[in-house]
Amino acid sequence: MVSRLIMVGASALVLIGSGYAFDNAAVDDGKSEVPVKAATESSLDAPAASPAASELQNDIAPDAAATEQLLLADTASQGGVLLGKVSPDAVAIEFDGQNIDIADDGNFLLGFNRDAANQALLRVTFSSGRVESRTLIVNPRKWNIERVNLPRRKRTASAAFQKRRAPELERIVAARAFQSDSQGWRQQFIWPATGRISGRFGNQRIYAGVPGGYHTGVDIARANGTPIVAPADGVVTLAARKPFSLEGHLLMLDHGMGLNSAFLHLSKIAVDEGDSVKKGQYIGNIGSTGSATGPHLHWSMKWNAARLDPMSLTGPMPQ
Ligand SMILES: [Zn+2]
Repeated sequence: MVSRLIMVGASALVLIGSGYAFDNAAVDDGKSEVPVKAATESSLDAPAASPAASELQNDIAPDAAATEQLLLADTASQGGVLLGKVSPDAVAIEFDGQNIDIADDGNFLLGFNRDAANQALLRVTFSSGRVESRTLIVNPRKWNIERVNLPRRKRTASAAFQKRRAPELERIVAARAFQSDSQGWRQQFIWPATGRISGRFGNQRIYAGVPGGYHTGVDIARANGTPIVAPADGVVTLAARKPFSLEGHLLMLDHGMGLNSAFLHLSKIAVDEGDSVKKGQYIGNIGSTGSATGPHLHWSMKWNAARLDPMSLTGPMPQ
């Protein structure tokens, strides 16, 4: 089924004097380790984990003759994913104007960006020619926004930095564009490491009215060398043996269907590009390589161009 190369929205440009270029193009924003006030974090609602695809299996009548059916597992939320299933006569699914892959068994996956609009349009075309349109309500999340009364410091990328950065960004874009036929997207995700969450997905500072980039992943603070495991089955699409300038030893996994994970600042990567890994398999160790003020795991996830909150897929951190 899904085994091809597609380009997903990403820019490899580094603009002089703009923090946004780093925030949008890179896996990390490079300044994400500034902890935000715990008092405001605790007031945030933790998202519930999305149900795994297996829970959907029973929902569509096992009758192979079922036609013109569209089922969704749950409601949609910003930063989350939604599993769906269509009957075998579905020939195409369009999501906000983009064609979405359908697995052989009719399952499919949708992802909702951190800043997704409050409605999205799903259109399924069946072999009869009938089109079913469904408007999805996307539940908003309360992101932790901190307003500071200081102008944002301008960062200027030196020519030397840009020269070093360009090939790193190329590898990140290529890794994200690669879609394996991994079935990890169907699974209930687990935490790659457990521990104190030192930075939540979506945290953002607004500097004298000017929004900075938001935190693109979840940070788990653990000692240098703490092992991490694959949160779901995947294929290794990037294993940075030489540390990247911001991400350090960066490891990326493709979970199939446009869903992927990135693990930053590792002290060690235990797998190689092209390897298939199983959920729960040891893949590397926590570190502080690249732009990090202390040892922690930054785990970010994307579905195509949409940035996701990993906690939407795992549920809350186990105590
Ligand atoms: Zn982070």
